[in-house]
Order: sequence, then C-alpha cells, then structure tokens
Amino acid sequence: MQTKESRGLVLFNRNYREDDKLVKIFTETAGKRMFFVKHISHSKLASVIQPLTLADFFMKINDSGLSYIDDVKEVQTFKTINADIFRLSYASYIVALADAAIEDGRHDAPLFAFLVKTLELMEQGLDYEILTNIFEIQILDRFGIQLNFHDCALCHCAGLPFDFSYKYSGLLCPQHYEKDSYRSHLDPNVPYLLDRFQSISFEDLQTISVKPEMKQRLRRFIDGIYDNYLGLHLRSKKFIDDLSKWGDIMK
Ligand SMILES: [Zn+2]
Repeated sequence: MQTKESRGLVLFNRNYREDDKLVKIFTETAGKRMFFVKHISHSKLASVIQPLTLADFFMKINDSGLSYIDDVKEVQTFKTINADIFRLSYASYIVALADAAIEDGRHDAPLFAFLVKTLELMEQGLDYEILTNIFEIQILDRFGIQLNFHDCALCHCAGLPFDFSYKYSGLLCPQHYEKDSYRSHLDPNVPYLLDRFQSISFEDLQTISVKPEMKQRLRRFIDGIYDNYLGLHLRSKKFIDDLSKWGDIMK
C-alpha cells in the first residue's frame, strides 16, 4: 500500500455492512478508486463522502483492493448545484459519465480537470444543459469514439450547411446529401454547434447562448449519437429525461 495526497471528487457512496461505507472517489493523481470508511456514524468523514464533494485527500492506495482515507483538507462543496434539482441532476449525470468513461485506477488528470471545471461553471450559473452537451461531446473519445463535425466525410469541404450520416459516421455537405437517403435531416446549426463544442475554450463559454428550440435539437441529436455508438443506460440520464417531462410543472 502506498500513501498519497491528491485532489479528489466524490462520485458516490454506498452502505457496506452495518456502519461502514464504500466511497468511490475520482482522484487527480491515482484515478478512480473505491475507499473503505469504517464506523461512518462516528467518523469525521461523514460529511466529506457525499457525492460532488471536492477535497484534498490523504490516502492509502491499495492497487489490488480497497483503499483508505487517512485525512482530508480543503473540503469544497457545490452549494448552488446542490440547491437546485435541475442543476444537480445534470451535474450527477456528467459525473456518472466520467465514471463510465474510464477504468478504475487509471490515471486521467485531464479528464479530472475537465470534470471539475465543468462543475465549477455549473456552480457559477452558466447554462448547465449546454455545459452537459459540451461534456458529452468531448468525452466521446474516452469511449473510443471519434466523430468529425468539422468537414464533409466524403469531400472534406468545410463551412457548409452540413447534415449527419450514420452510414458514413460523419457529416455530408449539400453536394453529398444524396449519398445517404437515411441521413439525419438535421438543422445545420446542430453540427455547427457540435463542431464548436469539440474545441471550445472555457473562456468562450461565457459568451455562448443557445435558444430553447436549438437546445432541444442538440439534446435529441446527442441522444441519438449516444444510443447508436455507446448504448449507455445511466440512471442519472433517465432521471434527466423524466425530469424534462414533468419538470415544467415544478418550474
Ligand atoms: Zn461533400
């Protein structure tokens, strides 16, 4: 077992025996790990192991089994996110996506930084639906899926009103629409925005603004991409889908 200090984000916890907990933490320097916390009701870690808690963890890392938390410092929670069920459900979904995207124990500091940054922007009040879309698009390559939303899959011309083709796993320009009679018939702004989302900097995000109808089109198209290429069924995503059905009543 090795001792390590790292920033980490709590993904979830679950009960283990009567008074113990298992806690999954995405650490910056040691990847995702499962930690064992004994006697939680008497532990000072009780509040720290809540999902979406960020902290400096002093850990004993065990490569072949459960790891342990010795101490924590600089505990930080996302108060705005936690106070709003809509914001919270989107935050929980991107956390679950990050959890699904990489194997436990695999070190992935860039993904950790991207996840934390996205949560921080949600906390600051930026559009959580668009932040989620950007996260979904950029994390695709962790699942081994590379999609080009920049130029035509056949002639590589750029800057045109593109459509998406599952047959070619890419865009078609107006001249090549006819190559796939089952093309998606997208609003060309959808691939245009996805192209921007793939390379967007966090500074540019402050200025991006997307209308509700366009958000719905993005949602529908990204759902299609996820169904076709990933077939992921995350409970947190189903929760968002259900929320959007009856969420208007709550708003
Ligand atoms: Zn073309």
